[in-house]
Amino acid sequence: MRNIVILNGAGISAESGLGTFRDQDGLWTKYDLEEVATPQGFARNPTLVQGFYNARRANCRGASPNAAHTALARLETEHPGEILVVTQNIDDLHERAGSRAVWHMHGEILRALCAACGHRWDAPDEMAPDDPCPACGAASTRPDVVWFGEVPYLMEEICYRLTQADLFVSIGTSGNVYPAAGFVELARGAGAATLELNLEPSDTASAFAETRQGKASQLVPDWVAGLLARAD
Ligand code: NAD
Repeated sequence: MRNIVILNGAGISAESGLGTFRDQDGLWTKYDLEEVATPQGFARNPTLVQGFYNARRANCRGASPNAAHTALARLETEHPGEILVVTQNIDDLHERAGSRAVWHMHGEILRALCAACGHRWDAPDEMAPDDPCPACGAASTRPDVVWFGEVPYLMEEICYRLTQADLFVSIGTSGNVYPAAGFVELARGAGAATLELNLEPSDTASAFAETRQGKASQLVPDWVAGLLARAD
């Protein structure tokens, strides 16, 4: 199992206190997705959307990595092959746990993006719609996150890495946001072993060769310890 690609979602950060989207008291039960996570919502009410992400940014800065993030950082350090974490999460908990090979396919809450010129920079705690871009001066500042209806980042590179994987692992994702939900089929079709670690079987659980249910803070360290023990 030299080459491992790991996809994760909101479930891996749930025990760090960052709410998931679709669970019973998830974020979408409190906010209207169309209003806060689409380009159309931003065009209608940029102040509301910036306020929503300012709150997400504050939550992120106040959270700490949990045992699942730490275990993946350990895996990257100790595994003799390649580890790539592809995350749908916009938080920076993997980086703070020590992982280096992390691709944020849905962007990063701690980064800002100029919709006019594409320049990116570190986001301040509070962003406002009329903040000027430090590169071009346009008042087109937005959070550097991928909204519904937008194309996720790094898709070509991610698909390539999935076709090269010996093992594909999905952690804490409900399997109903595409294209990430289709990654298991791509990896399996190219010959990878597949494993799902989630609180409950996801919508795509039947596509995995193996599934384990439980909290990420237990499942992930156990899986990492088992894998590293076998590599000895
Ligand atoms: P989701 O809310 O749709 O699904 C979360 C999944 O995690 C569920 O299947 C749930 O059963 C599982 N889960 C919940 N607690 C868990 C735990 N302790 N251990 C293991 N599994 C657990 O989230 P998703 O699939 O990531 O949805 C996609 C969208 O949510 C992405 O676009 C992502 O950007 C966004 N999101 C990100 C964050 C973050 O950055 N931390 C937080 C919320 C949502």
